[in-house]
Amino acid sequence: MPGKQSPMTEFQSLRQSLISWYLANHRDLPWRKTTNPYHIWVSEVMLQQTQVDTVLPYYRRFLKRFASLERLARADLQAVLKVWEGLGYYARARNLHRAAGIILHHHHGIVPDGWEDFRKLPGVGDYIAAAVLSIAFEKPYSVVDGNVKRVLARLFLVENPVNQSTSIKIFKEAADRLLSHEDPATFNQAMMELGAMVCKPQQPLCSTCPIQRMCLAYGTGRVGEYPKKLKRSPTPQFKIAVGVVFKNRRVLITRRKPEGLLGGLWEFPGGKIQNNENAKDACIREIKEETNLSVGVDSHLGRIKHAYTHFKIVMDVYCCSYISGKVKLNGPADHRWIKLDKLDDYPFPKANHKFFAELKQFAASAIG
Ligand code: SF4
Repeated sequence: MPGKQSPMTEFQSLRQSLISWYLANHRDLPWRKTTNPYHIWVSEVMLQQTQVDTVLPYYRRFLKRFASLERLARADLQAVLKVWEGLGYYARARNLHRAAGIILHHHHGIVPDGWEDFRKLPGVGDYIAAAVLSIAFEKPYSVVDGNVKRVLARLFLVENPVNQSTSIKIFKEAADRLLSHEDPATFNQAMMELGAMVCKPQQPLCSTCPIQRMCLAYGTGRVGEYPKKLKRSPTPQFKIAVGVVFKNRRVLITRRKPEGLLGGLWEFPGGKIQNNENAKDACIREIKEETNLSVGVDSHLGRIKHAYTHFKIVMDVYCCSYISGKVKLNGPADHRWIKLDKLDDYPFPKANHKFFAELKQFAASAIG
């Protein structure tokens, strides 16, 4: 660290500058006005993969519907997924729901404030445990998210790539050294806020930064070189075909298995198009394999593009007619024949929502 003070005094001064800046400048966000561990936990789970602006309405809706941990624990998973619908990373909702059940039955409905008990709940990793225990219970655990890693990388000129899993130890050690043990809640939130609002990925606002005088990247004119990152291989793209099977003015929907990508959500049957296969044939084959039904393809409803974190899909959607067979599931966990006006009662992935309007329009003109 530059300067003539001892490292401990430098760190103390950095903590004070950071905390004073945070208290005067932080954004007015609902989860910052509470010490309710359940509310803080919900916010941290939502924020883990999602931007603040997107989270805000979901956070409010979720806590309106499941105002207490007990209400969440006693709710049906489908109701929880419905409120989470569109936020993505549905394992977060499933784990939160399971964890609430465990707390209700094994911790008298009270969120545990000890690392051991809290960390072993479903979906609680090191980040969530440190964030909730420090913010809600003032426990001295440092948080290391993407924003914090960027700040630390610039502050200390950390050479380890921020997107390499083995680097986490280095960043965690740096965060632990800096952490304020007097006020871990404010300190952790200040670090995250600084990364989000000042030490941004592009064009950081160094001129207004409260810790500028201690920042090695700034001091050496190398802000643009940090954080270091490993080059990622290009995102794979998959071609998918799905069919909306009509039978007696109802359509077939299937429910994904509870675990894994989009687990527990409903969708229309379909799957990956194989090499040398056209989308229509893939649609017919996938429906047969997944549901045992023979269908005919009537029309092409549209082509949807959607990006997940690690891959992209291009999805051809067909309207199909039931020909024969009795549903026997191979893959999906459940199925329903529903009227189209009941579509909104079920949680669907975002990619499916992208063709709902066309589907409803098609149905209105084709079957009245
Ligand atoms: Fe980030 Fe600039 Fe502040 Fe350094 S001075 S921590 S690079 S905003």
